[in-house]
Amino acid sequence: MLPPLPAALVRRLIYPAYRAIKREGLLADLAELESMERLPLERLEEIQALRLRETLAEAYRYVPYYRDAMDRAGLRPENVHGPEDLAALPFLTKEIIRAESGRLVTTNPARKGYRSSTGGSTGEPLYFFNDHSAGPGRRANTIRTYRWAGIDIGDRQAILWGFALGRPMADRISASIKNYFNNIMPLSTFDMSEEEMSRQAARLRRFRPAYIVSYPSAISLLADFCERTGAAACQPNAVVTSGEMLFPHQREIIERVFGSEVFNRYGSREFANVAMECGRHAGLHLFIDLYCAEIVGEDGRPCAEGETGELVITDFSNLFMPFIRYRTGDLAVRTSRRCPCGRGHPLIEKIEGRTFDVIVTPSGKKVGGFFWTWLSRAVPGIHRFQIVQESPGGIVFRIVPGKGWEDGHRKTLAAKIAENCGEDFTVDFEIVEDIPLTRSGKSRFILSRL
Ligand SMILES: [Zn+2]
Repeated sequence: MLPPLPAALVRRLIYPAYRAIKREGLLADLAELESMERLPLERLEEIQALRLRETLAEAYRYVPYYRDAMDRAGLRPENVHGPEDLAALPFLTKEIIRAESGRLVTTNPARKGYRSSTGGSTGEPLYFFNDHSAGPGRRANTIRTYRWAGIDIGDRQAILWGFALGRPMADRISASIKNYFNNIMPLSTFDMSEEEMSRQAARLRRFRPAYIVSYPSAISLLADFCERTGAAACQPNAVVTSGEMLFPHQREIIERVFGSEVFNRYGSREFANVAMECGRHAGLHLFIDLYCAEIVGEDGRPCAEGETGELVITDFSNLFMPFIRYRTGDLAVRTSRRCPCGRGHPLIEKIEGRTFDVIVTPSGKKVGGFFWTWLSRAVPGIHRFQIVQESPGGIVFRIVPGKGWEDGHRKTLAAKIAENCGEDFTVDFEIVEDIPLTRSGKSRFILSRL
């Protein structure tokens, strides 16, 4: 294996050159975002209102679904001055995206989009389109937030994430080249067996990352492994957690074992980074220059201070398939408390996103939630699913079929499960009409009764 590149070489030369070749104004975007960081909240709110109006105006002009919705609500984009003025518009849900996907896509020929999908937080896979032009701004925002954690472009990054199995060789080669020149070491969370964690710990020691990005469940599992077995843990400057709810005990063990601060981040496949902690860890700063976030109760009304509600996001950067008032299914607490760091971006508290049970195979391998959400998108037509483990020998895989489902898909799924969980791991498929989901039960799509 090649030795990692010096961070300064990547930061000063390789990265800017690569972005220039791709004709991305990413570094200019980054400078703009950073210049906005110290603006007072009132000024940021003005910028947010302006971008909100621009988003609504383009959606009205080019997206049939929103034109109808705004006409029905009697809403004119120019009359919107903040999130509170959106209340007349219906929420965007995953059901609406599935049913109306054609009418949600822009008719503006200047915009280019690409397909994307997410396992979501409720066991319902979602397919949607992202906007090509959103990339640089979103990447710039990630760099802005990483700088809060003392991390910069080119610093060695280890990512412990749910990387897909069985991708074509060409994809894997191009990913390896990209990772090498970006100083990234990917590690997969699909296998968190003792042997694999021992290998992961060793690879991290050799790579000496400046930071680790991971699901809290995966990195805390690895921290626990190092602590129990005495395996030496690498000592990065920061650990960025994302993708699931971060529990206090997880933060504790990660900080203790890896000797570095944990920075919690909230984001998703639909939106990239929506909010992140700064070094004061006083809550998550919301990026209101890029998103509009509402926190609403069961009845859809805005939550009061200190109240937990569902995060509803409007994204200013995806105008190919705009997400306006999108119900994320994730919960957060509203606060008007200001962060002692002095940044203008407002705070939200306690993201209560998904939590995953872990499935255990006969050989003792732990298979985390992200394998199963990835699997749910490996064949078409899984509308919703639930994995239930009653015995160590196998699982029940419940599927609510949707458009595109065929019975033959069971064989494909079984083969992928055998590949990851072993041939002796049994899978019983149950095709069902519905899987009851409650709000608090949304996290229970992987259910272990062991
Ligand atoms: Zn702060």
